[in-house]
Amino acid sequence: MKTIVLKQPGQFITEDRDEPGQPGAGEAIVRVERIGICGTDQHAFRGTHPIVTYPRVLGHELGVRLVDVGGHGTVTCGLRPGDSCAVEPYLHCGHCVACRAGKTNCCTQLAVLGVHVDGGMCKYLKVPAAKLHKSSLLSVDQLALVETLGIGAHAVQRADVQPGENVMVIGAGPIGLGAIQFAQAAGARVIVLDVNEHRLRFAHEKLPGIKTIRSVAPDLSNLKDMTDNQLPTAVFDATGNAASMTTAFGYVAAGGRLVFVGLIKADITFSDADLHRKEMSLLASRNAPSSEFPRIISMIESGQIDTTPWITHRSSFDEFAEQFPSWLDPATQVVKAMIAV
Ligand SMILES: [Zn+2]
Ligand SMILES: [Zn+2]
Repeated sequence: MKTIVLKQPGQFITEDRDEPGQPGAGEAIVRVERIGICGTDQHAFRGTHPIVTYPRVLGHELGVRLVDVGGHGTVTCGLRPGDSCAVEPYLHCGHCVACRAGKTNCCTQLAVLGVHVDGGMCKYLKVPAAKLHKSSLLSVDQLALVETLGIGAHAVQRADVQPGENVMVIGAGPIGLGAIQFAQAAGARVIVLDVNEHRLRFAHEKLPGIKTIRSVAPDLSNLKDMTDNQLPTAVFDATGNAASMTTAFGYVAAGGRLVFVGLIKADITFSDADLHRKEMSLLASRNAPSSEFPRIISMIESGQIDTTPWITHRSSFDEFAEQFPSWLDPATQVVKAMIAV
């Protein structure tokens, strides 16, 4: 089967690889229908991803159809051939301290499809059946968005956002957009901070009800004016930018939470006096645990989460390698590119 391989940074090649064999007990064979492209893929292509090794088959945002499950799988996992599913690409060990606590997203042995191990840029893929989350209502486009939405969903879950709360999301890229949508779904009033005019305009047009600030570091008095003189009680940094993450401590209200959603391989410093004075909670949010996937699917099904703003670019499988480099140019203003396989 035709498989797109990132042979080395900057070079996709097409290989003819064997289709996966019969599924064993607990395994499933799926037909990949849609592949979402995100910053992880861009970093891998540029050679700037801290984990990806080469050659690697990318593809971790997958909308698939079930072909077959191994053993007596259809009875035990409730899946039937033809079912449309989102793939949870985080392969966890099931017995480490994090897995035992249900935090499969930060398993000590975590292997992510398309990052640590080969992903879905091919026609057929073998995955653990437990990593498939089906929906009879969503399109394969929507199912391929579930993983990326999960990042924002989990961040909002981490902060336990409450109705009526003032929250701020820093960074209006795809991860920030997800955080905005789930914070709004939780009933929060959302302020979005970004330096990029196009991103802010996109967020403002597509996600009604948000307030936007275009600035590197907004004036605190301005922020207080927008939050009944309180500052935001939950702040999400979705930039992965060290300067932004450092500044973010200053925006959090007393007793509030700061959630680092974006990540960076760097040291972040902060004033302990400020942290203590506000008794601030600093939280990291990584991926999303298995339990989030059915919740996200049902929120899309019920219309609480609207996926219509998301897909801005499309490509066929055959044209992907040619198209991809153009999406690295910010001028193309990609939010989410979707590949039809
Ligand atoms: Zn992604
Ligand atoms: Zn584990």
